[in-house]
Order: sequence, then C-alpha cells, then structure tokens
Amino acid sequence: MPLVPAQHPSHATRLWRIAIASLIAGTTGAVAAYIRPRITGPLHYESIVSTLVVLPMLFLVLLILQRRVPFKETYLWFIAETGSVCVVFLMAWFVVYRKLFDDLVGVMAIYAGIVVVAGLLLLYLWQRYRRPAVGPYCLHCGYCLIGTTERLCPECGEPFSLEELGIDEYDLEATAP
Ligand SMILES: [Zn+2]
Repeated sequence: MPLVPAQHPSHATRLWRIAIASLIAGTTGAVAAYIRPRITGPLHYESIVSTLVVLPMLFLVLLILQRRVPFKETYLWFIAETGSVCVVFLMAWFVVYRKLFDDLVGVMAIYAGIVVVAGLLLLYLWQRYRRPAVGPYCLHCGYCLIGTTERLCPECGEPFSLEELGIDEYDLEATAP
C-alpha cells in the first residue's frame, strides 16, 4: 500500500476553490436555463449536459484536488463544496428562467446526496491505495522515522524531507513516553 505525501490546504485555498466552483456552477445553470426554452423536442440536452457532464467533471476536479488530503480533514469540505455548487446552480437557473419546477429542488437535493455519497466513497477507496502519509513514516516502506538523525530511511535507505512528510524536526526526536 503506497504512501504519498499528505497535503493540508489552508482555509483560504479551500474557500477560493468553493468560490471558483460555484462560479462555474452558476454559469452552467444560467446557460442551461437560457437554452432550455430554445430547445424543442422530448430530450432536454441542456439538463443532461449540465447535470451529467459539466457538474460531474467539476466534482471530479474538486476530488482530484483533495486526493492527498487526509480523509478526516477533507470530507466536510467536500460536502460543503457539493452543497454550494448545487445551490448556486439552482439559484442561477432560477434567476434566468424566472421559475422553478415543483420537483426541481427535490431532484437537486437527491442529486447532491448521490454526489456526496459517490464522491466520498471514491475518495475513501482511492486513499486506501494511495494513503496520504501523516506523521514521521517513510513514504516508501512505512517505517517509523522517529529517532533518525540523517534524512535517510534506516529501513529501505530512501531519502526523505520534513516538508514531504508535513512534520517538524521535533516530530523526529525520540522522546521517552
Ligand atoms: Zn523506508
């Protein structure tokens, strides 16, 4: 089970991501609502493209950006991102189309629920095989590096840096319990 360096994005970075994702979602909702009355026929391509192509790609990008953030640090953020994207999409749709269908809010709520469950499952499974390393453990063999004086793993000989492990000098000191 390979370990990868963990990432810990700041709150500011996270909020920027939510803002940009919401902007894309809002644009998508507005464009879909604008196109809707202009398409005749039984199939609503604007709904299909926006909810089954554009938004899923957006969620996928958001997930990829946090694939190295330890699950416990990031799952609530993913829920917030999903909620924000769906709400802004719906609001933009409403602003342009001027009315909401009765079932649209319910459908979007179910949609958001499915995205959260599927996205978090995907992230969880991904991190089981590419686990973000938290703490003083060798990224190659998982050996505990506490007490190491050189920047080399005593077990497998691979070099490491404090930055890639997200730890301080202090975390490597052997302290008596
Ligand atoms: Zn090692």
